[in-house]
Amino acid sequence: MSYDFDLFVIGAGSGGVRAARFAASFGARVAVAESRYLGGTCVNVGCVPKKLMVYAAHFHDDFQLSRSFGWDVEAKSFDWSTLIRNKNTEIERLNAIYEKLLLNSGVTLLNGHAKLIDAHTVAVNGQQYSAEHILIAVGGWPQVPDIPGREHVTDSNQVFFLPEQPKRVLVVGGCYIAVEFASVFHGLGSETQLAYRGDLFLRGFDQDVREHLQQELLKKDMTLRFNCDVQNIDKQADKSLLITFKDGQTTEVDCVFYATGRRPMLDNLGLENVNVKLDKQGHIAVNELYQTSESSILAIGDVTGGMQLTPVALAEGMAVARRLFRKEEYRPVDYNLIPTAVFSLPNIATVGLSEEQARADGFAVQVFKSTFRPMKLSLSEQQERIFMKLIVDEKTDRVLGCHMVGPAAGELMQGIAVALKAGATKQVFDDTIGIHPTAAEEFVTMRTPSA
Ligand code: NDP
Repeated sequence: MSYDFDLFVIGAGSGGVRAARFAASFGARVAVAESRYLGGTCVNVGCVPKKLMVYAAHFHDDFQLSRSFGWDVEAKSFDWSTLIRNKNTEIERLNAIYEKLLLNSGVTLLNGHAKLIDAHTVAVNGQQYSAEHILIAVGGWPQVPDIPGREHVTDSNQVFFLPEQPKRVLVVGGCYIAVEFASVFHGLGSETQLAYRGDLFLRGFDQDVREHLQQELLKKDMTLRFNCDVQNIDKQADKSLLITFKDGQTTEVDCVFYATGRRPMLDNLGLENVNVKLDKQGHIAVNELYQTSESSILAIGDVTGGMQLTPVALAEGMAVARRLFRKEEYRPVDYNLIPTAVFSLPNIATVGLSEEQARADGFAVQVFKSTFRPMKLSLSEQQERIFMKLIVDEKTDRVLGCHMVGPAAGELMQGIAVALKAGATKQVFDDTIGIHPTAAEEFVTMRTPSA
């Protein structure tokens, strides 16, 4: 049977664009449908604008610090609208680059919502297209619990377009987006509180890392509310929001920002017309080849509920394109030792196992830790400290995990991730000559185990 396309991709985010471009470059006839913006979450309401806002927030400390080096700098004010406008211009530039990349690869780009009609047919803007393979790469969408006053909440899409900087903000949630945006708001001068329902934020991260970040945020006078759940939100006559917590406490803010996870974006996708099964959490269930229970339909990225990270979606998109259209170059995605960073201020970066996970997995471990004040702060009164930690398998000497809280932790961790992927032992770290003077050299000079 002949189809209009070899591959029809639904969603032009990180994973979808990667799969489409490479499939087309391998000679396949490819279409991509996108109903919103090219580049998906990462480019429009995720990694890219978030990082720009983190940079903006960091100037607060930088201006202060520069005085200790003799600069006479006074940060008179911060203009939110300039940041948002410039950020929007940059995102539009990236949207245009994505469009060019797709069109130059020979991909047919369809602007509109795509709906599955059957296992080989998709409808966009009232027209039907057939394809041998259909790839669902529609990503996720912010999820806000159903609490009274939910309509007053700002979610993690809307936060990038707030018309004004809130003077007082409550961030609800306790993982990547919550701690990143709490840092952004705080750095930009908003009075910031973070409320998390558990004992300590960043569940799943190494306990020392979580505690270190807690201490650093407290030093900056951020208000952290743990074991704290919102009961309801009331809008008051002056437009401020009155938050009542489940323990009866209240607080008044100008913005309540919810970062309580993301759900797969399956709205009106036409799943009822095909045999695509969902997993228990409601994500599209796929096998190791990203095939759904409908053999012609594949899915990658956040919609499948794996690690919700752009580089993971990119790798999956690449794997799909190669397996379908360039078999000889196909390599399965290696999900081991995926490094990740949280762009809180200070940053967190991590690769491999936490100490708790290593012990739970049955490893006898040696732990190396270091806490120190960065040299850059030595002329100032700023008391921020860097934290570094290595988890080593006592039996084989292999480094199982590496964690850092401190400036540019993500930049540094990428290289360490390469070492861990190559199976580096602690001896290899010890035999590596440091780069002096850097914070990074501490990773090759930690000699005494702490446990
Ligand atoms: P996560 O799913 O990582 O975390 C959700 C947070 O909200 C958790 O702390 C969770 O608590 C809490 N939560 C969930 N439901 C409720 C509820 N009903 N009431 C109160 N609290 C609740 O979501 P994020 O929104 O932070 O991020 C989504 C994904 O995006 C992440 O998993 C990450 O992979 C990705 N991301 C990556 C970034 C990066 O690489 N730097 C940056 C931003 C996002 P609990 O821990 O108790 O479950």
